[in-house]
Amino acid sequence: TRANAASAPITAGALSDGTPVPLLANLGKPEAAADAVTQGAEGVGLFRTEFLFLSSTNAPTVDQQRESYRQLLSEFRGKKVVVRALDAGADKPLAFLNDAHEENPALGLRGLRALRANEDILREQLTALAAADADVRADGEGADLWVMAPMVATVEETSYFVGLAREYGIKTAGIMIEVPAAALLADRVLREADFASIGTNDLTQYTMAADRLLGSVSALQDPWHPAVLTLIHTAGRAGAELGKPVGICGEAAADPLLAVVLVGLGATSLSMAPSALADVRAILLQYTLADARRIAEAALAAPDAASARDAARAAATAQK
Ligand code: PEP
Ligand code: MG
Repeated sequence: TRANAASAPITAGALSDGTPVPLLANLGKPEAAADAVTQGAEGVGLFRTEFLFLSSTNAPTVDQQRESYRQLLSEFRGKKVVVRALDAGADKPLAFLNDAHEENPALGLRGLRALRANEDILREQLTALAAADADVRADGEGADLWVMAPMVATVEETSYFVGLAREYGIKTAGIMIEVPAAALLADRVLREADFASIGTNDLTQYTMAADRLLGSVSALQDPWHPAVLTLIHTAGRAGAELGKPVGICGEAAADPLLAVVLVGLGATSLSMAPSALADVRAILLQYTLADARRIAEAALAAPDAASARDAARAAATAQK
């Protein structure tokens, strides 16, 4: 794939009418950065920091974290890099942070809730991020560092996280929208934050009440479900009204037709596994923003996920 990506010039993500749709990478470790650039990533839309914490029985030191973040940011000088604070719990349990005895870990002390209960870990992470950002700037152009919190459910949690990030000089602080409550109140949440990024994996899990790890309910774990799309639309509209970016960083962005729908619902950037970037870039170039909105409307009006997919496909074919 490296040879293919290198042979064709990679243009910035955009619709056929020129509307920019930055195409970003989801990364789980800094070593994956170079390959993402080769595959055309214009930046990082989700840097999952769990890898730093997973292999140890203790939290990593500030210096260990600082070095990893420095490595990441130095690969993306002049580009946007969205780093997510530690998302521990549920499908990402950490022995030293999470209580193994919760009966419903997906509904328990996870994400920002767990960080708040262990605020020293969050403070160390913000310290390391601010230091790494300064390290990279000390020897050339810096990256555009954005920091966000996982599993935010309330406006108060949003203000808490953004306030803390500001204490460390983080200029752009936001939240993930992956709990339906945050999507429903996106207008109020976004007033407190600089941006939001929609995590469609958890948003689908919580909207459909279907465990993302459980095969027996996987048919319900479908981001095409109009209930999920409606929440994304609510968040997208709130972002547009307030002039704040609302990106997507869940796996849904890697489905090319769904990527068009997401843009039609108001997503301002799409972040995905780097291997999906080329196909999404190609399909976006086939539609205008007005087309994408019409395709999204067709999906929104459907009664279920399968019909939404069919309706979007039919609307997309009619558009060509
Ligand atoms: C999501 O929930 O969609 C997301 C991007 O976060 P994660 O998959 O790491 O929970
Ligand atoms: Mg998530």
